[in-house]
Amino acid sequence: MRKIAFFEVGDHERAMLDAAEFPGFEVLRFPDQLNAATLDLAADAEIVSVFIYSVVGRDVIGRMAGLKMVSTRSTGFDHIDLDACRERGIVVSNVPSYGENTIAEHAFALLFAIARRLKVAHRKIRDLDFSVAGLQGFDLQGKTLGIVGAGHIGLHAVRIGRGLGMHVVACDPREDADLAEREGFRYVPLDELLRSADVVSLHAALSPSTRHMIDRDALRRMKQTAVLINTARGGLVDTEALCEALHNHWIAGAGLDVFEGEELISEEAELLHKSMSLEQMRELLLVHNLLRYDNVVLTPHSAFFTREGVGRLVQTALDNIRAYIAGSPQNVVSTGG
Ligand code: NAD
Repeated sequence: MRKIAFFEVGDHERAMLDAAEFPGFEVLRFPDQLNAATLDLAADAEIVSVFIYSVVGRDVIGRMAGLKMVSTRSTGFDHIDLDACRERGIVVSNVPSYGENTIAEHAFALLFAIARRLKVAHRKIRDLDFSVAGLQGFDLQGKTLGIVGAGHIGLHAVRIGRGLGMHVVACDPREDADLAEREGFRYVPLDELLRSADVVSLHAALSPSTRHMIDRDALRRMKQTAVLINTARGGLVDTEALCEALHNHWIAGAGLDVFEGEELISEEAELLHKSMSLEQMRELLLVHNLLRYDNVVLTPHSAFFTREGVGRLVQTALDNIRAYIAGSPQNVVSTGG
């Protein structure tokens, strides 16, 4: 019988995935990530559905001889080797826009937390200290918001920023002058954005060309009073350079829903019993370093995680599978062949 295997099934999506029916298919559901160690759970599956911590690399693809479709329950697809899929004719579908407002709202949650020093306020109140000492924040109205990547999510962030009375500039290799005029923002080169923005919010996908786009040089170009927000992908920011920037007060703070090593930190207790590579140890140390700062707020890649966002995400991933079975794949990021 043809098989569909759902990996990384979380409690928040179990009811929807359990209720989904695919006539003619055996449906398997696993809490595990799909990777070289777990693929034997469903090595003969025709369709797999994963979240972002599965590593659908060339080795995994090579060992799943019957694999014909990957449906990722995410927008980003940097965890899937598209070249290897293309060579094997495997269709890869993503969920292009389940949460443009959901992610953009989280970017502002991080920004407000920093602007109003909520991390410190929370700690003081817990200690029954009701003084305002150390809590002075800053307004967003009148400040310049710099959006890196004015796609689905970036555009929603533009609208929230405009609603708060911010000036908005954006950089994106694909410029649309009509859109900019309609939404009230201005395209500028990355260098100008970094130099002029009070808030730099990242919304570009991770690719070889965007990896570490916020490096030491970029951080040096930002205003000392500027805040960096990243809800896109950890790999966009060179974490070591960010630690240096925070230590030397090159910027005023950072709000990160995604960061290099985020997959390690959730497994930290397990890693203590396993051997860890030097690179993994370095990433963990850098994240611990970030946690020390009052002007850094981290969330565990939870920007997508609202009732409404998850509902739309899972529904679209299921629709993608049905469209593939019906012979007209949708939301395809790699067509194979
Ligand atoms: P999108 O494709 O609509 O927009 C990305 C934009 O980035 C595009 O307009 C593209 O032209 C632009 N871009 C590409 N290279 C660039 C560069 N070098 N500089 C500036 N802009 C560049 O994608 P989206 O739906 O807005 O999602 C953006 C990213 O957000 C996704 O790729 C994903 O990694 C991330 N995301 C995170 C979460 C989360 O839970 N934290 C959830 C969903 C998506």
